[in-house]
Amino acid sequence: MYQSFVPTLRTLMGPGPSDVNPRILTAMARPTIGHLDPEFIRMMDEIKGMLQYAFQTKNELTLPVSAPGSAGMETCFVNLMEPGDKVIVCQNGVFGGRMSENVRRLGGEAVIVEQTWGRAIDPEQLEAALRQHPDAKIVAFVHAETSTGVQSDAQTLCALAKAHDCLSIVDCVTSLGGTEVALDAWGADAAYSGTQKCLSCAPGLSPISLSQRAVETIKSRKTPVSSWFLDLNLVMGYWGEGQTRSYHHTAPVNALYGLHEALVVLHEEGLASSWSRHARNHNALKAGLEAMGLTFVVPEAERLPQLNLVSVPEGVDEASVRKQLLQQYNLEIGAGLGSLAGRVWRIGLMGFASNPKNVLFCVNALEAVLSQYNAPIHRGVATGAVQAAYKA
Ligand SMILES: *Cc1c(COP(=O)(O)O)cnc(C)c1O
Repeated sequence: MYQSFVPTLRTLMGPGPSDVNPRILTAMARPTIGHLDPEFIRMMDEIKGMLQYAFQTKNELTLPVSAPGSAGMETCFVNLMEPGDKVIVCQNGVFGGRMSENVRRLGGEAVIVEQTWGRAIDPEQLEAALRQHPDAKIVAFVHAETSTGVQSDAQTLCALAKAHDCLSIVDCVTSLGGTEVALDAWGADAAYSGTQKCLSCAPGLSPISLSQRAVETIKSRKTPVSSWFLDLNLVMGYWGEGQTRSYHHTAPVNALYGLHEALVVLHEEGLASSWSRHARNHNALKAGLEAMGLTFVVPEAERLPQLNLVSVPEGVDEASVRKQLLQQYNLEIGAGLGSLAGRVWRIGLMGFASNPKNVLFCVNALEAVLSQYNAPIHRGVATGAVQAAYKA
């Protein structure tokens, strides 16, 4: 006989999903109502308003796509691009690579601005590419590269795009709620995020926001959007303001209860407080790990507080350490990707999971497992360093 699935309680400190706030799980368990029910429509309007707050934008076209972050990415490309368009993609990790894959599959030409993994996008390199390709239509980049723990300067990159008459597409999946996202101040044209990173919600939705300039681009397309499901002209019939809502697809009702609660939580804490909490916990984690002798890979000014790239000590098999952390302590951390595979761990401190209890737990669990492997670390000093960092 099949039985109910009851997962073990883990602590999620990898690249996402992050620990879901119990308030959000409770919200998701509330009774399902119709997706055209007036009560539900009221909740949708609140979600829009709170997403505008989170993205720091007045963009009318701000809504959650009914699918994970990758669908938000695809929504931006499929609506703004037409076959033959030239798109400059800044690539410094896994997710930039997916952007260029979107461009190619939509029949566009991807011009890649390549950066070493573990470093921020270089604005001068982007500017050179913009000069060399005056016919480019869009600039796309990842604000917070989860594959490497790097944050790029979105304000500068968006301004360069605008100065060269390009639209900008910004991946804010890991930044939203964790570090500052300010679409209007940046002048960004399209941004997408995800629910399972710093919003601490269950995976499966992708908040997006598009500027007036982006909306005009969509309205003046010469070819229809090649995806029926992601066509914003149609999605707007359901999410649009003031119009009679019409059926496009059945909204994931309970998932949206979860997003609503996650945004209420973010609103209660306040954006600035959330960012400074992420920074504080990052500093404490860093103090503990550095006291043990572990090192951070990304240059300090380019580090993401919500995703920490930590080097694996000499002679240690990183995969078995992660396996032991999961088996002995129910603690999940992430592996390195691409050229960083085997050499780094990715430790997430995202949203609800970014707290002093997790920092101390992670540092101590890692010390215990590394000690079992006789790794060359300093023992017995990490806890003190964490505590000192919180007092400072
Ligand atoms: C997680 C992530 C995505 C993809 O989101 P999914 O919800 O897994 O589809 C895209 N970009 C970045 C930077 C991410 O961290």
